[in-house]
Amino acid sequence: MSVAGGMENAFSAGVETGCDCLQIFVKNQRQWHASPLSPEQIARYKEAASATGLAPVIAHATYLLNLASPKKDMRDKSIRCMIEELGRCEALGVSGLVFHPGAHMDDTIETGIKHIAESLDIVHKACEGFESMILLETTAGQGSAIGWQLQQIGDIIDQTTNPKRLGVCLDTCHLFAAGYDFRSREGYEAMIDEMERAFGIERIKCIHTNDSKKECGSRVDRHDHIGQGKIGKAGFVHFVNDKRFAGTPMILETPKGKDGRGTNLDKVNLKRLRAMIQG
Ligand SMILES: [Zn+2]
Repeated sequence: MSVAGGMENAFSAGVETGCDCLQIFVKNQRQWHASPLSPEQIARYKEAASATGLAPVIAHATYLLNLASPKKDMRDKSIRCMIEELGRCEALGVSGLVFHPGAHMDDTIETGIKHIAESLDIVHKACEGFESMILLETTAGQGSAIGWQLQQIGDIIDQTTNPKRLGVCLDTCHLFAAGYDFRSREGYEAMIDEMERAFGIERIKCIHTNDSKKECGSRVDRHDHIGQGKIGKAGFVHFVNDKRFAGTPMILETPKGKDGRGTNLDKVNLKRLRAMIQG
């Protein structure tokens, strides 16, 4: 949900749409820095949070970050940005900060993974005792993006000195584009087993529920409306009825706008997902 005009505006938009939980940006997602949050801004945000009861709130980190960059100055800049964003999450009581692990570019994937783990250690050291958790998002594997194979996420976590402080955010569009075909029951369970082996499913703190415009294994990240993409109802039914994820926030990152009848597309997508819940 947009925070344009004030962070607290995401809550009224969430209530209007019929959400139970929210995902926001805690600063402009296309800029490196933001002026610090004032006590008034924090108070207005917390007031809206408690008045509406929408929880948990997840934040998505800026798209500019690359903790896997071969360039040290880029990694340093990304680390500083992440510390700033996690600080904003902590001040606001946001439970998790989702980020794309990074792209290794000209380096090997092993070096990229090592850089991400080392960077996360620095962030954690600077944010000692924080309750807000960093959540590594599974990726579609576009270009040299790391995190499309589930074991890569597990490897990053294993190489940090404080793995307890890290969680995982699944993205259904990314998983599908990365080659996990969870439309069948067997495919879904095989994928969950792989998650269990790679990082443990109790680490999953958020699920982005997006359909995919592109085919399974395409490694191209294009979100689509629920049921209108290549995943279809068959894939989402497993997620929304899985008791292991009953308490896990599910977030739509589907295209915004209105349908032909003028209905907010977030409402349409939310209704489609909820209609798949059995019993
Ligand atoms: Zn996502």
